Amino acid sequence: MRNISTTVREAGVVGAGGAGFPTHVKLAARAEIVVVNGAECEPMLKTDQQLVARYPEQLIKGLKLAMEATGAQKGIIALKDKYQAAIAALEPYLTDQLQISIMPDIYPAGDEVITIWLTTGRRVPPGGIPINIGVVVNNVQTLINVAKAHDGKPVITRTLTVTGAVKNPLTVTVPIGTSLQEVLNLAGEGRGDDLAYILGGPMMGSLITDLSAPVTKTTGGLIALPKDHPLIKRKQMPLETVLRIAKTVCEQCSFCTELCPRHMIGHELSPHRLIRAVNYKAMGDLQTLTSALTCSECGVCEAYACPVGISPLRVNRALKAELRAQGVKYQGELRKEDPMAQHRLIPSSRLVQRLKLGPWYKEAPLALETYEPEEVSLSLQQHIGAPAIPVVKVGDNVKRGQVVGEIPEGSLGARVHASLDGTVQQVTPQMITIRKGGAT
Ligand code: SF4
Ligand code: SF4
Repeated sequence: MRNISTTVREAGVVGAGGAGFPTHVKLAARAEIVVVNGAECEPMLKTDQQLVARYPEQLIKGLKLAMEATGAQKGIIALKDKYQAAIAALEPYLTDQLQISIMPDIYPAGDEVITIWLTTGRRVPPGGIPINIGVVVNNVQTLINVAKAHDGKPVITRTLTVTGAVKNPLTVTVPIGTSLQEVLNLAGEGRGDDLAYILGGPMMGSLITDLSAPVTKTTGGLIALPKDHPLIKRKQMPLETVLRIAKTVCEQCSFCTELCPRHMIGHELSPHRLIRAVNYKAMGDLQTLTSALTCSECGVCEAYACPVGISPLRVNRALKAELRAQGVKYQGELRKEDPMAQHRLIPSSRLVQRLKLGPWYKEAPLALETYEPEEVSLSLQQHIGAPAIPVVKVGDNVKRGQVVGEIPEGSLGARVHASLDGTVQQVTPQMITIRKGGAT
């Protein structure tokens, strides 16, 4: 019988909820528990909760395969208490080995370190990864893709939420490589010139200006907001301005540290100390500075905690880039967790209020049809690791599901497959474009 990890590798499965870590590598490890991260804590995204409710059998199949591959004896599906349809859909499948863990509607329940802590009580050490404590975490869509891989189907579609200032917010499945503009059109875009766009969720997503960019295996959502919305303004703020504000107005109140989820569970990371270290170089020892590497970039400090509009997140992100360029790694012990930690996580409703997202906080129903574009542009780097190498050339006719990008020998990476029947129009080291129909 074929090894599950090999099947998953051949199907090009990557972590759908994060940066796209190749799933076959995760499944090659030995673990005690597989956690399914169904928290989907970014306030406006509605994908995973609806996929669980609609395809519980596939999710359970993917979970069982992940447990078999890793030798895990327990599978825990982490869901929020408000995902009632998803919980009801999974109930018939639960056993002693397969359980649901119900979490309150808080942010950032979906940060995998926090998900593990909430569902198992185990704490990932700072600078560590879940497997260090015997846990493998997979997102809902990743495990559905694992189940499909087992049925011989590679990853060629992505389900994502399109919401915000659009006429009909929705959650839609599109072939990978569909342009963001087309996805936006499906939701009935309104006032184009007045809008700005966030790729991903409101807290951790980034601004995007090029809507011709394609959907990838990790595209979680597309949010349209008015250009003058405070969230857009904040994301547009240049780093120099962020640093100047931090230097001018930080009052060292330490609210950012008190509410930092990583700090609460016992990590050294203390954003107020990092701000002080950056503002006054003499007060910044290397140990404090390297703790920035353990920041999850959840955004609680900037969007919720700081009373004067400072962004420790942006400061940390800049520090991380500098430290990584120098090859610096974090080393530090796990400390005692804050006994009040469970009570300090932020209710999503308050976060939505604070982000001023109320008018756009709507349902985004799952469309059951898969959209069919005329053309797709497949990025060869939709994952962590080396870019895939094109194995087709311009003019080739390709079939949906055919391998068009291969993992370079001996490298960490993921395959890329054609998501349309059509003809290859363009091949570059970054992208393969395929148009529907025969050669032109
Ligand atoms: S919450 Fe804001 S003002 Fe207070 S210490 Fe943190 S960055 Fe400074
Ligand atoms: S973004 Fe801020 S709150 Fe979140 S982990 Fe980093 S320092 Fe902590």
